[in-house]
Amino acid sequence: MIDVKKIREDFPILSTKVYDKPLVYLDNGATTQKPRCVVEAEREQYYTLNANVHRGVHFLSQQATDLLEQARCRVRDFVNAPSEKEIIFTRGTTEAINLVASSFGELLDEGDEIIVSEMEHHSDIVPWQLLANRKGVVLRIIPFDEEGVLDQTVYKSLFSAKTRLVCVTHVSNVLGTINPIKEMVAEAHAHNVPFLVDAAQSVPHMKVDVRELDCDFLAFSGHKVYAPTGIGVLYGKSEWLDRMPPYQGGGEMISTVSFEKTTFEGLPYKFEAGTPNYIGSHALALALDYVESIGMENIEAYERELTRYALDHLSEIEGIRFFGNAPDRDAVVSFLVGDIHHLDMGTLLDRLGIAVRTGHHCAQPIMTHYGIEGTVRASFSFYNTKEEVDVLVEGIKRVSKMF
Ligand SMILES: *Cc1c(COP(=O)(O)O)cnc(C)c1O
Repeated sequence: MIDVKKIREDFPILSTKVYDKPLVYLDNGATTQKPRCVVEAEREQYYTLNANVHRGVHFLSQQATDLLEQARCRVRDFVNAPSEKEIIFTRGTTEAINLVASSFGELLDEGDEIIVSEMEHHSDIVPWQLLANRKGVVLRIIPFDEEGVLDQTVYKSLFSAKTRLVCVTHVSNVLGTINPIKEMVAEAHAHNVPFLVDAAQSVPHMKVDVRELDCDFLAFSGHKVYAPTGIGVLYGKSEWLDRMPPYQGGGEMISTVSFEKTTFEGLPYKFEAGTPNYIGSHALALALDYVESIGMENIEAYERELTRYALDHLSEIEGIRFFGNAPDRDAVVSFLVGDIHHLDMGTLLDRLGIAVRTGHHCAQPIMTHYGIEGTVRASFSFYNTKEEVDVLVEGIKRVSKMF
């Protein structure tokens, strides 16, 4: 069980006020708040253990390097990767996917096909479109139905002799749908096609095990799992990473450099050019410690209960329409009420101290699917409470009366 009251004490921002109202932070799908231990670890490292990694022989540099490599092992264990060499630090999910699009993309030829889903975040669409423009690669799209569930029959029919990669989100950041990734990976592998998972919305909410999913690539962002911004992870199977050319060139990623020929470092350094965010990676490791101290199973159970509670109570609101009703769903609720514009709803809720997100949530094809411009989205964390959900429901009712 989760002691929410005690957990909330770890997050100073949760007891602040906006417009003189207690903050009700329901925008966790965009970014999560940071516990004190993570913020203080960053400060502490700057005060006592700051030096550039790898290059120095001196004490501080060694210590900073150790922390970076320990963080890599921490992430390896967190996602159950076979080797820390398969853990590449990036700026976030977006950069991780761009790395694959750029580097794996080099292995592709004109006419090769990549399968993506209709419910992807822009960061799992646009890098593939840029690759399509650069290389003449073709995108094939898995559609979803009215409930927000991917059509597995169409998915199976999209494979051809030219399919080179499948890229699907584990959890939709708009619909909340949890996709059956393990089964979808197995299908791709039956065609000898590798699979990339966008895990930005799953890693914060459930146990994610890359060996169990058997995915070939998996990307997530630190800032959505209680770590600072500017740090993220790409997991990749070494059998693929070894074959892929470097992503960026610079320091840290080379073995020898001359004007005639440069040779590259092995994994994971081949993909980490330049001074890494070694402060961020250590803070990420501590954030992962933090969530595991609560327990991913506890987090998942609590957040599901909270989401259920939210759906039940929001359903009472006259004229509410939900987007995404998948049976297997996560802690995200998207909706519109009557013909109230999402931006008006968001702005008025904000005046009541309630932080929700409005708009297309970086997933415009989902909006196109429903013929809408945007939604209001409430997304939950284990530090949210049923009382906060009540405040949201009352807030929406108040706003509705104004129209
Ligand atoms: C937030 C998010 C991203 C992008 O993450 P960044 O941290 O902005 O790089 C990608 N996919 C999903 C599903 C997301 O929710």
